[in-house]
Amino acid sequence: MGALLSAVHPVTTDHRRTQKTRLRRLAMGGQRGKTDPSHHTPYHLSKETVEALRLPAFDAWQWEPNEMLSCLEHMYHDLGLRWLVSCVSMTNYRNNPFHNFRHCFCVTQMMYSMIWLCSLQEKFTQVDILILMTAAVCHDLDHPGFNNTYQINARTELAVRYNDISPLENHHCAVAFQIFSQPDCNIFSNFDPEAFKQIRQGTITLILATDMARHGEILDSFKQKVDNFDYTDEEHITCLKMVLIKCCDISNEVRPMEVAEPWVDCLLEEYFMQVRVYS
Ligand SMILES: [Zn+2]
Repeated sequence: MGALLSAVHPVTTDHRRTQKTRLRRLAMGGQRGKTDPSHHTPYHLSKETVEALRLPAFDAWQWEPNEMLSCLEHMYHDLGLRWLVSCVSMTNYRNNPFHNFRHCFCVTQMMYSMIWLCSLQEKFTQVDILILMTAAVCHDLDHPGFNNTYQINARTELAVRYNDISPLENHHCAVAFQIFSQPDCNIFSNFDPEAFKQIRQGTITLILATDMARHGEILDSFKQKVDNFDYTDEEHITCLKMVLIKCCDISNEVRPMEVAEPWVDCLLEEYFMQVRVYS
């Protein structure tokens, strides 16, 4: 229950949602699910919402956590992927100002819109699409709200466990596969062991790529491939998937101003929280 509540508890920044946007959301139609986050009732998405979900302009501030769960479920089904609600109900996103469940939702929704806008299903296999979406959902699991520099300088348990090498990203991966190892959360159970190995490796590679300390290295590798990009080359495909998740992770700025702007305050709030603890 604790994990469930932390996954769907409203974020501290919810006060930023104005009456205006709430009304706009209601105008978009649909039936509200129960407000008790421990009981995820599927939310009926209106046609307008379903269409809006495919666009980068989607306004995530208008939605309650249980509604975002239904949107995630729709995105998976829409791409022909298997989704279990119990899987997300087990996820553990903390109530941080920035690295919370709404950020996870935004990154995943941007990935979903990129898949449609760039017709990625024509270029990638379904396993690649599953890896892209699952890595996005899991990429900041159990983020403590303190960055890698803090973890390393403060010699935290995570930094010690992962020898100062991407402590947070390694932790997000480990939490993800702990969740998927639960029998009722194993969304990969219909894959054979070889395919599972590929999905696990692919997901880990993408989540580890979100460490900004590796930004230059990943970008350089992509620049070397981009002029002669080969969709049949596994190395090229992996590099493109890494760039895609990196773009989605920092994609707030490409959204409309009213959607992007509140995230700046969230980021600053989390940063100053860290500075206060460290000084
Ligand atoms: Zn992130």
